[in-house]
Amino acid sequence: MVDANRALQDRARAREDAAVRRPIVRFRGVKKAFGAMTVLEGIDLDLYPGEKVVVIGPSGSGKTTLARMLMTLETPSGGEIEVDGEPLFTMVRRGRRVPADERHLARVRGKIGMVFQHFNLFPHMTVLRNVTEALIHVRRIPPEEARRRTMAMLERVGMAEHADKYPAQLSGGQKQRVAIARALVMEPKVMLFDEPTSALDPELVGEVLAVIKEIAAKGDMAMLLITHEMQFAREIADRIVFIDGGKIVEQGPPEEVLLRPKSERLKAFLARFR
Ligand code: ADP
Repeated sequence: MVDANRALQDRARAREDAAVRRPIVRFRGVKKAFGAMTVLEGIDLDLYPGEKVVVIGPSGSGKTTLARMLMTLETPSGGEIEVDGEPLFTMVRRGRRVPADERHLARVRGKIGMVFQHFNLFPHMTVLRNVTEALIHVRRIPPEEARRRTMAMLERVGMAEHADKYPAQLSGGQKQRVAIARALVMEPKVMLFDEPTSALDPELVGEVLAVIKEIAAKGDMAMLLITHEMQFAREIADRIVFIDGGKIVEQGPPEEVLLRPKSERLKAFLARFR
């Protein structure tokens, strides 16, 4: 009996381990071409629950395209992307795999929160409404509850006192913190940041990185972050992925990738930040 119980417990634990080991995002042989120009090729990339992965690489190497495919803003030209165990761009209908319809895309995309370089706040809405909007109209959360969750999130990013302002009344750093709150309030499984500080004046970069760092430290959420802030990458990344010419050239723990680069391309890239 004791043995049987133990066997059951072992099996339950093995199932939990397997669930934890299953990537929350999986790119397999992903390719993207715009017309005759191949922008990404043979991308294999797994992101595990809770893992913080930072993508670095020269401008034009395909980083944004990678993020945009995960947000379904671009469709891959080949290969497959899975989110939480299910293909993003295909679905099963009557036992057959067919291209995903808008409903499928919206459902899977709902597991991902994205923060862009250029905030993308709604200019005609207050900070509060910018954050409650999707909670109320997409998630169907009652307004009072949406407001409560929003204020808690704005508190977390240090923007609660600005809840009634409009985006035009905020600094770039403040706008970006609102954009982060807006994505986080939806409780995504993965947060995607595409150069969240590169449009900011230098003196405003720190406050945004501090918020992201705080989220990374507390959240059990996975993060995929594209940035040119190498010191920041080193501090928060579990893994750094270096993309150049549309391919993953090197990846590994920050110390390895940033301090002991193997390829000449990565060495040359890092030399620009010294
Ligand atoms: P990165 O984020 O690393 O700077 P991008 O993913 O933005 O790189 O771009 C990679 C390449 O793809 C660039 O050469 C860019 O000009 C090209 N590209 C990106 N989006 C499009 C598009 N919609 N149509 C045509 N070319 C594009």
